[in-house]
Formats: sequence, structure tokens, C-alpha cells
Amino acid sequence: MCGIVGYIGTKKAVPILLEGLSKLEYRGYDSAGIAVFEDGNISITKDEGRVNHLQDLLNNKPTNANIGIAHTRWATHGKPSEINAHPHADNSKKFSVVHNGIIENYSDIKKFLMDNEYKFLSDTDTEVIPNLISYYYDSTNNLLEAISLACKDFKGSYAIEVICSDCPDRIIVAKKDSPLVIGTSKEGNYIASDIPAVLSHTKDFYLLEDNDIVEVFPSKLNFYNQNLELISRKTEKISWDASSIEKNGFEDFMLKEIYEQPKSIRETIGFKLNKEKIELDNISFTKEFLSNINKIFIIACGTAMHAGLATKLTFENLCKIPVEVDMASEFRYRNPLIDKKTLAIFISQSGETADTIGALKLAKEKGATTIALSNVIGSSITREADIYLYTHAGPEIAVASTKAYTAQVTLLNILALYFAEILEYSDTKLIKELKYELLQLPNKIDDILKNYKEVIPIAKDIYSASDVFFLGRGIDYPVAMEGSLKLKEISYIHSESYAAGELKHGPIALIDNNFPVISIVTDEMLSSKTISNIQEVVSRGAKTIIVTNQDLSKNFDYIIKIPKTHKYLTPILSVIPLQLLAYYISKEKGLDVDKPRNLAKSVTVE
Ligand code: GLU
Repeated sequence: MCGIVGYIGTKKAVPILLEGLSKLEYRGYDSAGIAVFEDGNISITKDEGRVNHLQDLLNNKPTNANIGIAHTRWATHGKPSEINAHPHADNSKKFSVVHNGIIENYSDIKKFLMDNEYKFLSDTDTEVIPNLISYYYDSTNNLLEAISLACKDFKGSYAIEVICSDCPDRIIVAKKDSPLVIGTSKEGNYIASDIPAVLSHTKDFYLLEDNDIVEVFPSKLNFYNQNLELISRKTEKISWDASSIEKNGFEDFMLKEIYEQPKSIRETIGFKLNKEKIELDNISFTKEFLSNINKIFIIACGTAMHAGLATKLTFENLCKIPVEVDMASEFRYRNPLIDKKTLAIFISQSGETADTIGALKLAKEKGATTIALSNVIGSSITREADIYLYTHAGPEIAVASTKAYTAQVTLLNILALYFAEILEYSDTKLIKELKYELLQLPNKIDDILKNYKEVIPIAKDIYSASDVFFLGRGIDYPVAMEGSLKLKEISYIHSESYAAGELKHGPIALIDNNFPVISIVTDEMLSSKTISNIQEVVSRGAKTIIVTNQDLSKNFDYIIKIPKTHKYLTPILSVIPLQLLAYYISKEKGLDVDKPRNLAKSVTVE
């Protein structure tokens, strides 16, 4: 979940590494460090804290080095501290390593190395990596061979960069179940765990595959498999614009990303609705195949799982196939009933979410047809699945997801419509209406965003609350879940979401004077029921905030009006005021919106 950057070439390494780290800081940010080659020696600078602190430390150590590796950490083993920060060195200080992931069998390896007189300074799993490489180097005297032997011993996930003082002309990288890319240019080669880190330098990238080991020289790359046989890999041209990872005048990435939603939805829809029937790149299902499917699983984590919940109804109603939505971390360990008649859809913004990838592998093993939805071209999940589809939300930098969620809900609705057209169970009028409404979404989001000022007084009123409830029924319930998650993530206010009818079965006991209750009321068929539930909390003193597309009486503290759309698409509109509310509450509390405590963007550990 951390960020890795590396550079080898003709330019000065440190500014490139620091710039890359600051672009990756959203992936993990409890400590940071750099190792560079200087006069044949490796010099390591690292500490607890953020990248600008590392920058201050480096200001006192000017260097012209043009080879270096760098890291921002999201601690999994050992607290954030200087000693636990990466890079880690071996006992002889010959090797220096940065690592993303977890070496699951590190205790066994550590014991083995300690039996062989190796000493350990940190509490990390990572420290076994340079030491095991050093152990094998002693007997082979060959860097590549030592790394390959060590990698064969590791269980778990890793993306690593290794430098060795005996070979000052190269960086060696290797990966398994954790992303790593190499960008190439005339001025040198750029290594990163995520493309945005080095996108300002090149658009030509190698996306490494599991078990790849690469020797990176200033103007040459040698790719090997784990048995050190030479292999070939192709570059991909990345179309993202470097400015898409800048704030462009917005105060924070999250606010910028909230405002990018009209664009990201337009781009996710693309040309998919232009023809008489929906066509999707990479998929060509037949009626025979789909009629045979008796179960759809939608599996994801966090916000992406909420996107699945928000579209369960669309799939079930349009395709008449039962849909089960589950968290990847539960699904993969509960022996789910899967066979050849199962279709399993996996959603991950980064495409690197470890639990989701694990769940996908399980479903594939059991014979399901698997579809991956990701926002990152070439990400692990898209390579693992039978079929992949991309949301085109552009890079999402803020840790709390906004535009990726609405793009996921959009794409899942399009996928359900695509199935429906093949299955021919739904009336064509409904399908036509949904297609029309999908195309209206960007303008309707623009209208909601124009009214952002309505949200600010609510944020000022409730930011000091210690607890908040979110309520919704039917299609509004997953939106309540997403609104609640957003608030927790960036404001640290305890919040819970409930299906509106559930409140009276227990949680209503918590309501007292001024307890903020935020409700979503968009489904005409159900609104009178939800309103009754809201009245129940009003009677007990709650402060009520309602997001609705209906004309409600003014009996409530705050009403935020949103435009109407088809019921299946309302989660894309009703979530926007909740994103804004979480954002302004966090600002009111003076918090770091883009980098909330304890979180990281791309959750590559289980
Ligand atoms: N497991 C390593 C550690 O705790 C790496 C964590 C990360 O990916 O940032 O240091």
C-alpha cells in the first residue's frame, strides 16, 4: 500500500524521487525514505513522517547522485518510526531495499537468518529481504541469482527495488501480487508502484507481471522470469494527462475529484450507448450463455462494494438473475457456492485490492466466469479476470473515493443494460429510458455542484457532533452506507448507516437532542415509509438533514434538493451532497481531507 519510486539515468535522482513520492503519498504516508548511490557508497535518509519532512532532511545532504530508490510507508509490521522506515539494509550494508507488501513467512526466514548470525534492527517483515539476498549473495556472488533465490523463498506479496554497492550501475526490481511499473525515456528509466508518480517524465510504461525480475540500467532493461530466463515485455502508452494529477486550483484533490464527476461519467459512458444496442469492448456474451447463468456475485471492498449494492436492484430487475453482493474479505473465506453457472463481477478502483484479487482467484478456480471493473489500465485485477471493463474516471488521488464510485455505479448500470438487451426480459421502453437518463447524469451533477453552498451551513452546524446516523430505504440504503463511510473516513466522526425501517429495532435508543440524522429519500414508492421513520427521530429530538428529489414539507432542519432521474440511477446523484457534506465537515474540523489518518489509497494487503 506504500509508494515506491526509483530512478536511474542522466538526471539528478533526488528531485525526481521526492516529486514521485509526493505524488504517491496518498498510498501511505507514515514514514518516508530514500537511498542513493554516492561515490560508490549507498547513502540512506529516512524518518517517520511525511515526504516534506524527508525533503527537509535531504536539504542538508546535497547530492548529485543519479541512481536512487525511494519509499513512503503504510506500516503493516512495526510502528511508524525511523528504524522501521524503508529503505532497509542488510547487515553488511551492501544491499538496500524498499518493499511494498507483506512477507508472510518473515518470522521463519528471520529465525533462519538469526541462526546464521544475522542481526535485525527493525520490527518490519521487510528487513528479511536485504538479509536473505545477502545470505544468497555470499554463496553465489551473483546479484540476480541471489534475488531470484530470495524471491522463491518469500510467501506473501512484494514489489521491491534493490540496489547493491557491488553493482552501482543498476537497480533490480521484482514483484508478486503488488504493482510495479517502469517508465522509459531518453533520460533514463523511472520505476514506480503507481503510474502517476512518474507520469510527468514519460508516457511509455512496462507494467510488470508477477514473478518478473528486471535489471534496470540507465538506458537498458533486462526482463527475467523467476528462473532467470530472459523474457520479453511490451510497453503501453498511457493516455492520462500529467495535469490530471495536479490540483488545478482546487484546495484539495478530493474537492477537485468531486467536481470532475460530470466528466468522469461522460468518459465512462463514452460511445457505449451510441449504437442501437450496447456494445462493450472485450465482451461478447450470447443469449444462450447468459440464460444459463443462475447467480451473479458482485464482490468488492469499501466504497466499491457500495457501488455493487447500489446496482443489485438494476441487475435483478433487468436480468431476472439473483444477485449477491459481498465484501471480498468475507467472500473468499466462506466457501461460497460457485459453479460454472455463476457470473462473478469484481470491482476495484486501483485494480490492486488484495482481498478482491484473492476473491477473484477463488471464483475462477471454482469455475465462475469473472469480470473485473477497474480504473487503472493493466492493473492486476484486469489481468486476472476472464473479462475486464474500465471506468474512465482518471487518476483518483484523494484517499476517500468519490469520482471512482459514481463511475463504477454508471458502468455497472451499463453492464446490467447490456445483459438485459441480450436476455430480452425487460421491455425496450425501460431500457431506452435508462439509456436516456444515463446521458443526462453529467448535467444533473453539474446542477447539484452549483448549489454546493447549501451544504456549508449544515457542515458548520454539525461538525462537532460525535455521532451521526445515515438512513435510507431500498436504493437509498447503499447511498446511506456510502455517505456514512465518507464521513467516517475524512472527519473521524463516528457514523452508522441503517435501513430506515431498522432503526426502531434498536439503534433509535441512541437518539437524543441534536443527534444529526442524515436521510436519503428518493424513491416515491417508499418515501412515505422513510418519512415516518424520520418523524420518529424528530420526535426524539434529532437534527434532520434530508437529501431528496421530492417536494417535502419544511418540517425538517435541512433539505437538500437534487434532480430526479430513473430510480436505478439515483445513487449517482444522491451521493454528491453527501460527498460535499463530508468534505466541508472535514475542512471545518481543520483536517487533512486528502490524507486521512490510518488510511491508504490502494489496499494491497489482506
Ligand atoms: N510490510 C512492510 C512494512 O511494514 C511494507 C509496508 C508497505 O507496503 O508500506 O514496513
